[in-house]
Amino acid sequence: MNSNLKDMKGKNMFQIIFATGNQGKMREIRAILEDCEANIVSMKEAGIDLEIEENGTTFAENAMIKARAVADALAAQKKPGEYVVMADDSGLEIDCLGGEPGVYSARYLGEETPFEVKSRDFLRRMADVPEEKRTARFVCAIAAIFPDGEAVTTSGIVEGRIGYELRGDNGFGYDPIFYLPEYGCTAAELTDEEKNRISHRSRALGLMKGELKKRIS
Ligand code: IMP
Repeated sequence: MNSNLKDMKGKNMFQIIFATGNQGKMREIRAILEDCEANIVSMKEAGIDLEIEENGTTFAENAMIKARAVADALAAQKKPGEYVVMADDSGLEIDCLGGEPGVYSARYLGEETPFEVKSRDFLRRMADVPEEKRTARFVCAIAAIFPDGEAVTTSGIVEGRIGYELRGDNGFGYDPIFYLPEYGCTAAELTDEEKNRISHRSRALGLMKGELKKRIS
């Protein structure tokens, strides 16, 4: 049990600083952690402006690198002990390509290349791969650093297959080529609400919510 969080709970609210500038992620995070009595702000809202180099080899490592960078920046501002710092890292792993693009999901073919181009490149490379070998997954790791310095990571996975064409206009990134057999459609054909319910990010966040609750009960 963490007395810092208990104290903050005593004040009825504790603060989570999430290391992302992505407003879509912030909405999803706020929705999932809604009942945690936490005030959730992005690092920008917390007054932190950092370029963080994601040079880890796993999603968990990259998430922790981001969380540590923000925790260190807060410590430099002499604000230690008041916040839970969280960060995520996520991406797509395609089995027949040895787990590509993995931690390079955003950087594949260059950060500025549109996802339609990146996705079509995977379809081209997999043109001869049969259905049963097109298995893939979205993975998300969430890292948290608690006020006493304790560091925890959780992860969530959603399994699927790479389709044969881009389908659907919702979602983002590789969603149009990520086919979900149980739903009979791609992730880009689900509504935001449907996708958030089953996503790798919501699964990892759900587990992190359990870790938070353990520390405030
Ligand atoms: P992050 O924002 O550093 O975690 O980068 C995640 C990258 O992985 C994104 O730019 C996408 O390429 C990919 N990715 C992660 N989650 C999803 C998803 O839910 N749908 C589609 N692509 C995703």
